[in-house]
Amino acid sequence: MVMLGRTFSILARRLVDDLLSVVFPTLCALCGEPVDSLADGITCAACWSGVDALPTFARCPRCHAPRSAEATTTECPACRGMVLDGLRYIGPYDGVLRAHVLFLKRKPQVCRRLREKIQEVLAEESAFRDVAVVLPVPLHPRRLRERGYNQAELLAEEVARALARPLEKDVLRRIIYTEPHRAGMDALARARRVAGSFAVTSAEAVRGRVILLVDDVFTSGATLNECARTLRRSGARAVYGFVIGRALA
Ligand SMILES: [Zn+2]
Ligand SMILES: [Zn+2]
Repeated sequence: MVMLGRTFSILARRLVDDLLSVVFPTLCALCGEPVDSLADGITCAACWSGVDALPTFARCPRCHAPRSAEATTTECPACRGMVLDGLRYIGPYDGVLRAHVLFLKRKPQVCRRLREKIQEVLAEESAFRDVAVVLPVPLHPRRLRERGYNQAELLAEEVARALARPLEKDVLRRIIYTEPHRAGMDALARARRVAGSFAVTSAEAVRGRVILLVDDVFTSGATLNECARTLRRSGARAVYGFVIGRALA
């Protein structure tokens, strides 16, 4: 009876939420204008139109950081020390993409527009052709209990579907609980903090394979690089990264 009452109250709350969203349309998290389509999530179509792709000729071939055409022959400062074999992302971590990454930490919903952006980026990516398996950056079980889901896993599901590759949720585990990075921590401090945090549960799933790691955001790269280091130690042939937003200096 108690269970039934609880289920009913959850359903009732959902119904109220749905009714409210009809009466009071969502306002864009960025500009405050009404969001006309549910497909756009929490930002309006006009704000989404600002998420434009960077021209391919002006990117570092490895990490896709924007570069001037003359600089392409010199070493890219953005991927110096990067363990990943390559990094791709939808755009800079600000505006619409940042709003959606933050939203995804509160609600397990990937809107259609974001799904389409993921598909667009992956469709034009030749480096991912050899990818054998897609892995989400794992949360520590304690953080998973607090949040109820892993937002990187939701994104990895979309990536795996778009590439038609298997998704492995448990091959990489987070074995050490680390507090979230604080603003002001430098790259070295962040790298030290996550060192040894991950473990591979099945070496066979990794050995000799090209792996694509998925996370929501790339800032210093400490987390993704540490995951890549762990996977390489278990014999991965190559490890690529894909994120929604990348913090660009
Ligand atoms: Zn807007
Ligand atoms: Zn680069």
